[in-house]
Formats: sequence, C-alpha cells, structure tokens
Amino acid sequence: MRRTLIAVAVVLAALAVPGAQSPTYDVLIKHARIVDGTGRPWYRADLAIRGDSIVKIAPSIDAPAARTIDAGGQVVAPGFIDIHTHARRGIFEVPTADNYVRQGVTTLIEGPDGSSPLPIKPFFDRLLALRITPNFALFVGQGTVRDQIIGSINRKATPDEIEKMRVLVRQGMEDGAFGLSSGLFYVPGTFTPTAEVIELAKVAGRMGGIYISHMRDEASAITQSVQETIEIGEKGGLPTQVTHHKIIGKNNWGKSVDTLRLIDEARARGIDATIDQYPYTASSTSIQAALIPAYALEGGREEVLKRLKSSMRSELKRETTRLIMDERGGGDPQNVQIASCGWDHSLDGKRLGDITKGRGLAATVENAAETALWIVEQGGCSGIFHAINEEDLQRVLKHPATMISSDGEIPIFGRANPHPRSYGSNARVLGRYVRDLKIITLEDAIRKMSAFPAQRLGLADRGVLREAMKADVVIFDPNTVRDKATFEQPHQYAEGVSTVIVNGQVAFENGKMTAARPGRVLYGPAKR
Ligand SMILES: [Zn+2]
Repeated sequence: MRRTLIAVAVVLAALAVPGAQSPTYDVLIKHARIVDGTGRPWYRADLAIRGDSIVKIAPSIDAPAARTIDAGGQVVAPGFIDIHTHARRGIFEVPTADNYVRQGVTTLIEGPDGSSPLPIKPFFDRLLALRITPNFALFVGQGTVRDQIIGSINRKATPDEIEKMRVLVRQGMEDGAFGLSSGLFYVPGTFTPTAEVIELAKVAGRMGGIYISHMRDEASAITQSVQETIEIGEKGGLPTQVTHHKIIGKNNWGKSVDTLRLIDEARARGIDATIDQYPYTASSTSIQAALIPAYALEGGREEVLKRLKSSMRSELKRETTRLIMDERGGGDPQNVQIASCGWDHSLDGKRLGDITKGRGLAATVENAAETALWIVEQGGCSGIFHAINEEDLQRVLKHPATMISSDGEIPIFGRANPHPRSYGSNARVLGRYVRDLKIITLEDAIRKMSAFPAQRLGLADRGVLREAMKADVVIFDPNTVRDKATFEQPHQYAEGVSTVIVNGQVAFENGKMTAARPGRVLYGPAKR
C-alpha cells in the first residue's frame, strides 16, 4: 500500500512539471561557507536536504532539487540551540518565536531557574496542538517540585517529602525532561539545603539528565555558589552547569578569574562542569527577587505585604538599600530599569532614580529603596539590572566550557520594555564579539551555540552539519550579522540572517517568517 502511494506520488510529481526530472533533494544549498558546529575551520561546500535530514555535503552537488538556495559564500551553520530560555512566556501568543528564529535559533530549552511546567506532559500536549516554528524542550524545575510538595516555606524537607519530590522528578524525566534545573537564588529554591538538591539530582542523573543552576548567589558569595554547583554535580553523579554565568555588583567584579579556575579544577579532576552565558552587562528578573532579601519573601504575596506593613519595614528598607548599593542595583538607582509593570505600563523602560524623582523624592539610594518597596506593594514589576562588567563577560565568553544562551523569552512585539537579550543574544555574539571585538573566532562562537549545547543535552542528531543529522540550518552574512535591540529600544529584530531551516523546512527567508511551523517537541534521554 505504502509503496503504491509513493509510486502514485512520483507519477503525480512528474505530471506536474511535464518533462522535468523528479527532484533528488528537497532543498539544495549551493556555495556555502560551512561552519559545521564542531569548532573546526570553515570550508566551502554544497549541502543537500531530503525530508527532515541533511543527506549530502560535498564540494559540488548538481542533482535536481525542489528548492535551490544560493548561499553566495555566506556562512551556513547548524541552527542554534538555546539552553536557557523562558520561552513559555510568549510561545502560545507567538508560536513562530520570531525573535529567536530571526537570529538563527532553531531549538529552545525551557524550564530553567528551577521553574517548569509540572506535570510536563500536558504542557507538551498543548505545544503539539499549537504547531510551533522552533523545536522545544524542557528541564524539570526543582523549585516547582518543592513548591508543589512543601510550598513556599523556609524549612527542610522531611524524608517523606524528599521521596515525594523524587517521584515528581522521575515523572518529569519519564515525560521527556533533559534534566533538573534549580533556581537557588529564588523562592522556594533558596530554602533548599544542598543535600536535598543532591538527592533530586541523583534521580535526574541516573536517568541520563543533567543539572543546570541559577546559583544561590551571583554577587559576594559567587565562588561558594560555584563550589555548591560543582558539589551537586559531583555527589549527584551527573553533568552540572552554571547557567547565565555573571558576576553581579562592583565589589565582586573580577571574581570570574576565581569562578573559572574552580570550573577548570573541577574538570581536571573529572567533574563534567560547564557554563552558559548571555552577552550583556545587565540581568533581568523581578524587582522583588532582585531587591528584597529572599527570607522576606516566604509564604507568598500576602505575607510579603504584611511584613512591609510591620516593624520589619525599616530593616527591609536597609536591606534593599544594600542590594541597590552592592548587588543588582549596580551602586546607583539609575542602574535599575523597569522592564514591565502590569499595573502601570507608563513605567516600562524608566529608571528607578527617575521614578523616585517622579514621586517627589530626591533620587538618593534610600529613597530609591523606598520606591522599590512601593513598587512591590503595588503588585511588582520585572526589572533590568545594570550591574555586570564587560571584562568578566569577555573572560567568561572566552572560556572553552562556556556556551551561549539568552535567558530570554518570546516578547509580544512592541509590548513593554523587555531585556534586549530575547532579540539579540546570538546575533550580538556573532556581530560584536566575533567580528567587531574579535574576542572569539567565528567557528568557536558557532560551536558554543550548536554542537556544544547539543552534546551537553545528549541531542545526538542535531548541532552539527553532517550527513544524516536533522536539517536545522542557519544561513547568515558574517559581515552584517548584528543585534539591533537596545535597552532603550528593545523591540528590534537582529539583522544579517538570511535563511533559517528547521527540520528540513524553510522557516525564515527574505526577511519574513514563512507559513511553515516545523518545530518539534524534543524528548530527553528517559523518553527517547
Ligand atoms: Zn536565571
């Protein structure tokens, strides 16, 4: 039956174009400068795709193809794999994920920072029903697991609760997660002792998963946090990753020398510790998480509001002042910027110092702390925090164990003032750090965006341009590729990418997203 159908299809194809040969390939890319993802030097070749796979790479391919794309000497690379995204923010409104695909990102990994859908399966079912453009995958979040069993409470888990959490992690892995993420900086991850994280990491590790962590502290205790992340990998028996590695706060700048040495030492003694990073000197999270100490966030919003009304307020204001001075505030209220305020979008994009002045107060750090508490009372906003230095960023970028991630989301074009990383991370590395500043080579940058994260995740059929691999492919001009999104005007797509192919189908070309929605849910090691 199947053979008959194929025979009929062949006859129909031949009839459609009288006299034409039936095409050997679905897509043929001619005159490519192949950067294959492994880090090896580029070479010139043609690349042919049939169905969802790369079937031939050779110096010259001249067989007939349904579509021929002349790359004209542009770079042809594996589609980029972004190992840290918050893409469930936006994927249901914008299933084409334009901000990512236009940069060449073809696979998005969600569930970072200890926060994931749970259970995972219904979420995957919704995605599959949606039809999306990029591939999509998940980690299971330790914070979400703990929240479900214990709640937002500051205490140790009982042995019974640990067993229940193990069951949830196991279920997440069976449903297709790639490992366990944690956000030990956030509530409720911050209430978790290291030993408890290790118990859950063991479950993910035994099932082939990795551990990836937004660490407990990225400021004054950054080296201890890297040590903790390494310890969890070592005792949990699984690969471990410091995610969106950065050094927050002027007093701590330069500490990447120490953190990278810790990673090197761990690797030298056989612990598979790696790093990912986004290429900006500002971070983004909620004003509350950034500027209120975590111990005051226990129990949820009502409890926080009660504390702010109580005698604790002056203590919290002191702590917030310190966090503006020494940590995410970057030493100046103007270094705190509002990304999005649900209760007053006129604040989006504004600086904390200016908002403080707008409330009739001098823009001192203490008054800015008062404004931050007021913002939390009004309902909270997400913020952007300019508190990272360029030297640390470049040092981390150059490290061979660092891959590129965005930590971004899928913005609604034009809405609010999101961190530009959602629109520009990959293009910024290729434009600013490869071409303009020459911090890393083109081949190394592509490796950090493709083969390296693929290998980290165990995605054996993606991340490298080679015959029999899945055809996720990006074509871009290395002379023009660049990010355009800024902190003032984030809603600008990256430039320089001409064609993006996902699972063999053209998803972006001629400056436009196509009608194709070829993205798949990718399943982790326990479900494959
Ligand atoms: Zn994070």
